[in-house]
Amino acid sequence: MTLPLTYEALTDVGVERSENQDACGTAEAGDYVFYFVCDGMGGHRGGSTASTMAVEVIGRVLRETDGAIELRMQLAIEAANAEIHEFARQRRDLHGMGTTVVMLGIDRAAGTAHIAHVGDSRAYRLRGDVYRRFTKDHTWVQRLVDDGVLTPEAAEHHPHSNVISRSLGGRNEVEVEFTTVLDPIADGDIFLLCSDGLYGLVDDDAVARQLGDLSLAEAPPALVRAACDAGGHDNITVQVVLVGEKSAAAEAYAVQHPPNGHGHVTGRNTVPTPAVPAPAAPPTPDERDSDELPVSIDPFSDTLPDNEQRGSGTLIIVLAAAIGVALILIATLRPPSFAVDEPTDEPEATEGSATN
Ligand code: CA
Repeated sequence: MTLPLTYEALTDVGVERSENQDACGTAEAGDYVFYFVCDGMGGHRGGSTASTMAVEVIGRVLRETDGAIELRMQLAIEAANAEIHEFARQRRDLHGMGTTVVMLGIDRAAGTAHIAHVGDSRAYRLRGDVYRRFTKDHTWVQRLVDDGVLTPEAAEHHPHSNVISRSLGGRNEVEVEFTTVLDPIADGDIFLLCSDGLYGLVDDDAVARQLGDLSLAEAPPALVRAACDAGGHDNITVQVVLVGEKSAAAEAYAVQHPPNGHGHVTGRNTVPTPAVPAPAAPPTPDERDSDELPVSIDPFSDTLPDNEQRGSGTLIIVLAAAIGVALILIATLRPPSFAVDEPTDEPEATEGSATN
């Protein structure tokens, strides 16, 4: 029996910013259904251009490409990377723009879920009372965690936790990380895709509680409000996908993890995300520059100090490099911690807590 899939998505500018550079979309092709969230970067116009282009290109390629589900996901993300990179190369004012992507693909006939990501947008699943994160951020601080320099707890609250090491648009090729969810989808599964504007401000327990406690329609606006109440300094995007019917076991999460109290909920100018994204703005030929771009720091390099930082450029890169040196000095003075929590690089094990 094929389980029905329903979803709700919401993207919000947040409290402090004037522009929403996040975007999200969905695509359907035969038995495959795809959901994706993109978080743009690259200064004024660049971020929103990159994320909007990514959503448009990814949706188009997913629908038009033949092949197995993960192949389609890879080709779609690679196509978006190539188009954004080429567009930025031709437009001096958009040079350096890029975006993250996190994508959930579900094969309804096979009952399988597949996750791909680049950057620090994340994918989670609430199954019963188990809330699990599937993606590992492509960030500078995650590398420090991997190297044993930082604990995961310290990384979560690090001032430069948003310096990402991989993005769409920065290079002409991109490495896509796949996570195959080995256990089949189950009735009552709730998947969440989100940008760092959510998880950076609302802890996982609080998010899982909302997912378990609220209806599918109620959850996205509640999560956005929670992020805004916590400061809302970034754009916030959430996409919630429900497999089958919401289970009583999921609601058990909210009961077992009672709220620790959140502040007053204020009204926000939230914008429902259309299922079919708007097409990206086409290139303007008369604004194209020559191929000879000035030599500058590539903010998308995989090695410091050439990492991407949303919003500002060289200053943050210099700060990041300085902090890196400081951390290395600290690391030489005391044994590194290896207290790595989830997610792991290991193939997913079945949790044995499936609902129903
Ligand atoms: Ca963000």
